[in-house]
Amino acid sequence: MANNKLSVKFEMSFADKSKRVGGYDSMIIQVQDEDLTIHKDGSIVADNNILYPKLVHHSQFAAVRLRERLHHADWTLTNDITTLWELAMMHDCEVCRSGAARADRYMRATGTAVVVGQLYWLHPEDYQ
Ligand SMILES: [Zn+2]
Repeated sequence: MANNKLSVKFEMSFADKSKRVGGYDSMIIQVQDEDLTIHKDGSIVADNNILYPKLVHHSQFAAVRLRERLHHADWTLTNDITTLWELAMMHDCEVCRSGAARADRYMRATGTAVVVGQLYWLHPEDYQ
């Protein structure tokens, strides 16, 4: 798996485009075997029918936990550690940094991919 550089983007919208973004957070999800199909030639394909709804659920769960409402979310399936750090450090805070560091260690130890979510929150004045 480590020899194949993997980067697949999943984009989802939760609000009308006319509404504003009021903030953002990143989150990182481990990939399960069922999320991917590995072909005989070694190529890896994300099973969108499984992964996409799962990522919608993770987005909504994070919004509830953080008392936010979703504007949109961009998720990237990647096994590249540079990409992980670029996407996960949406703001330079301790929570983002420790999450990225944990995922970095996990990826180096297992050689596997993670999915990095970039969650954009709806501006409170645009809740209506
Ligand atoms: Zn942060």
